[in-house]
Amino acid sequence: MSNLSGGISRQSAWEELEGRVRSCTACDLCRGRKNTVFGQGNRSSSLVFVGEGPGADEDEQGTAFVGRAGKLLTAILQAADIEREDVFITNIVKCRPPNNRIPLAKEMMACNPFLEAQLALLRPKIVVCLGNTALKWLMKTSEGISSLRGRWFPWRGILLFPMFHPSYLLRNDSRKKGSPKELTWQDIIAVKEKLDALTAEEGVF
Ligand code: URA
Repeated sequence: MSNLSGGISRQSAWEELEGRVRSCTACDLCRGRKNTVFGQGNRSSSLVFVGEGPGADEDEQGTAFVGRAGKLLTAILQAADIEREDVFITNIVKCRPPNNRIPLAKEMMACNPFLEAQLALLRPKIVVCLGNTALKWLMKTSEGISSLRGRWFPWRGILLFPMFHPSYLLRNDSRKKGSPKELTWQDIIAVKEKLDALTAEEGVF
């Protein structure tokens, strides 16, 4: 079923996708989960953040980035005048890995169709990958976040921008010049400026 703007079919596609994630048993992570963590935010946003996978708080609440790292992510966004509700936030894997370990390749592979479907529905202009796992998975690179963060990469016709993961910043709290935290504050401003420029460009046509 569809209407002129595709609104109804888009909404049902989101609902169907959420249902598939909720009942997924494609990898062993489903055994330990309390909740799946689909991701949340503005489904019309041009800006999407992709993290690694849910932690304990996210597993408990079924919502992405709500623990300490999530609170820091909110503060990072606010520093650039970006409201959390205005962006879409999700993860590579939708179930919590035991003891917050890095998801295994087979788990990321099993979960990948969900992220792909989310990106297909969102059609963002910018994808920010948070941390090494998201960076390496999306860009298929072996280079690390420290060398690639803060740079724009053409990716599938849109832009990919790697940033440090907020959990890494919690472990590296210095705000000195050149520290991960200080660099991240520069990076989020760059994201906001690029988003504003792309939005203004679109308005011209
Ligand atoms: N870390 C992540 O990568 N994702 C979350 O949702 C929370 C912490």
